[in-house]
Amino acid sequence: MTTFTFHGGAGEIGGNMLLIDSPGSRFFLDFGMSFKRHGEYFSEFLQPRTSNALGDFLNLDLIPDIEGLYRNDFLSHNKMKTSEEPAFDGILISHAHLDHLGYVNLLHEKAHVYASSVTKGIAEALDELGSGSKDDFVKTTKSFSYYENKKGEISRIRNCRDPEIKYSQREYPLTVDRGEFEVGSASVQIFPVDHSIIGASGFIAHAGGRSIGYTGDFRNHGSRPELTRAFVENMASSDLDILFIEGTNIDEEKGMSETDVGNEISRLITEAEGRHVFASFPVRDTFRLLSFYTAARNAGRKLAVNFRQAFLLDKLDSNKALERGKDIIPSHDEGLSVYIKKREYGLIGEDVEEEEKARDYDKKERPYVGIDNQICWKDVRDNPGEYVLFLDNYSVQELVDIQPVEGSIYIKSQCEPFDAEMELDWGRIENWLDRFGLQVKRAHASGHMSGGEIAEVIKTIEPKLVVPMHTQRPVLFSDLCDCEVLIPEKGKSYEF
Ligand SMILES: [Zn+2]
Repeated sequence: MTTFTFHGGAGEIGGNMLLIDSPGSRFFLDFGMSFKRHGEYFSEFLQPRTSNALGDFLNLDLIPDIEGLYRNDFLSHNKMKTSEEPAFDGILISHAHLDHLGYVNLLHEKAHVYASSVTKGIAEALDELGSGSKDDFVKTTKSFSYYENKKGEISRIRNCRDPEIKYSQREYPLTVDRGEFEVGSASVQIFPVDHSIIGASGFIAHAGGRSIGYTGDFRNHGSRPELTRAFVENMASSDLDILFIEGTNIDEEKGMSETDVGNEISRLITEAEGRHVFASFPVRDTFRLLSFYTAARNAGRKLAVNFRQAFLLDKLDSNKALERGKDIIPSHDEGLSVYIKKREYGLIGEDVEEEEKARDYDKKERPYVGIDNQICWKDVRDNPGEYVLFLDNYSVQELVDIQPVEGSIYIKSQCEPFDAEMELDWGRIENWLDRFGLQVKRAHASGHMSGGEIAEVIKTIEPKLVVPMHTQRPVLFSDLCDCEVLIPEKGKSYEF
């Protein structure tokens, strides 16, 4: 008997967590955080407790209570049942957005995580820039234990500086971004797809005599539409018994493409000649970053990225699956600058020794301070026509030092707020932009297909059964396609 169970991602956007259970193979498709359900209990200032995160999540039904799924250090600390080996053959991660990856840190330390090398690279960047165990996507930080320090005293593990003692690496057995692999007795194929984050994948799995398609999140109007087309063609020739398909934008018309965005921002930047240009877009969307990079170059400017983006670009630069110049550029590229903001004493841009300036930064950011293409508030203030500065919601305070010239613009290249909290956040940012006289311009392409495109895809694939996921309007699928549609409920198991 083969069954599937949505522990997240049914009737909601994100939080994908789909368990496939068949004779000989038991695996999850994605292990993401539902921002909506998480946000019902937690906020920036109301966080799960470090000592009891797993217990807090389980108690609030944010994650499923399944034996052999979670890491032993958390379980034993919370006096819950541990298990030597994971009770799963693997966890397949479609892409590095947190609503698909976010709870991987909680997984059993020996769990096999299958993801493209690019997705693993992004997860690694998140992990390395994070702190504690909440970003343990690629390694696990041994929590709640003790070690013997150099003086021979017993000390808490968090004080330990030896990575050999403090961390262990998670298993990421996959070495290809396209191809076939085994998960228990199931054979699975991974395909790269076009989405708003690089390295995104879809899967075709054969388990328990059933063929399964899983789209993850995908679109065909981004920088790599040919990838999605090839994946859809492969699903069409796989005689799918079941298609799990995302429907984020099921009720939307076709919007701007990434090419449209590139053209529009080129126009906006050219028009703003001699004035300041600021841009905000999803921080890890390197496709959008490249669109801005190209538009800036065409207008004789440089794109100034933040430290986290520079770190990610450099992490992905050596990835063999990516083509340098086309898919990815290193942070030292001549068309890029790395903008370092004021921290601690705020000495950047001041006339003090480089060494003293560097003390404002932690050991991850420090290597970028003082490099050739590093800039700060002063460079942007004094040269309004030279940069397009990435300015996210965490950096608007820099405007105080930059003092934009009259007629400067802020290009908002991300989705509009879709809940009350986001409305509040955006309202606050708008106050900053108003205060400094910035005109807001908009240009954005979604990471997801429109309803019409989804219908086209289903028609091409002709699966026996369609199961909508990652959507708040699953019922619309029945109107859109002629196939049989099953609307899943969270926590309920279905035989197929
Ligand atoms: Zn996504």
